[in-house]
Amino acid sequence: MVIRDLQAVLHEVHEAVGPLIGSGSVADYIPRLGAVNPDQFGIAVMTTDGDLCSAGDGDVEFSIQSISKVFSLALVMAADGDGIWQRIDREPSGAAFNSLAQLEYKRGIPRNPFMNAGALVVADHLLSLTASEDSPVLDFVRAESGNPSIAVDALTAASELSHADLNSSIAHMLRSFGNLRNEVPEVLDRYVQQCSIAMSCEDLAAAGLFLARRGVRADGSRLLTANQAKRVNAVMLTSGFYDAAGEFAYRVGLPGKSGVGGGILAIVPDVCAICVWAPGLDASGNSLVGMAALDELTSRTGWSIF
Ligand code: GLU
Repeated sequence: MVIRDLQAVLHEVHEAVGPLIGSGSVADYIPRLGAVNPDQFGIAVMTTDGDLCSAGDGDVEFSIQSISKVFSLALVMAADGDGIWQRIDREPSGAAFNSLAQLEYKRGIPRNPFMNAGALVVADHLLSLTASEDSPVLDFVRAESGNPSIAVDALTAASELSHADLNSSIAHMLRSFGNLRNEVPEVLDRYVQQCSIAMSCEDLAAAGLFLARRGVRADGSRLLTANQAKRVNAVMLTSGFYDAAGEFAYRVGLPGKSGVGGGILAIVPDVCAICVWAPGLDASGNSLVGMAALDELTSRTGWSIF
């Protein structure tokens, strides 16, 4: 699709979801996220040729939250191949993102790397592979988007850390089963820092583009093999939307990952990376308007892996 047409389609999508903007409930279990104005909507697409289109609040920063889990998983696989799969399964959970229930009967092996339990194991694995003062996810998203001013929002991180009883319980449970190698506070801190990175849809579409380019980074070097990129996309498709992965596959039909900040990153292999953002969440914790916008966009463009 030529860029002028794509830009027009994004405006159509913005218009189509207009009546919905503001719907859903902002996540308030992290107080700082609860204070975000719900009347915002952004969308951005970056093509594999590097062309960028955006509409609405596509340049406004928001908390990426669980979208960061895609980058941490990719970085762990790049550094250590399949090692992480000794510690995590890759099955949809059918449960809430912060579910603790399955961990006990699965004896400390999380169902997938995108629910909090799995993401804590990935953060732990990455912590063991890097120095404790490093910020591998932040460095990666800055490099891919070409935006060195991307930063962790310290207030969001502090807000999450002071309300982290459940994630802390999950981390202790993991450690009790021998599936957390570093100390709980260190892992939680790393995890919360990566979740609290603030980025715009435009930055996120650029940072996720390596997955549409089958593992190739913005500078032309390779982060993942094509096979590994296929696997990350597959896990996004099956486990990227909490207990609504089936609904997302049905309505949108793309690998994707949502976060409780209201962002969704979706990948059209060999074509583009898409990011949408609207802070109000549906009952499963996915952006209500973001999901509707991706439904509209993929229906208009025919972008789907199915
Ligand atoms: N930092 C959030 C948490 O651990 C991430 C949740 C999400 O975006 O799914 O609760």
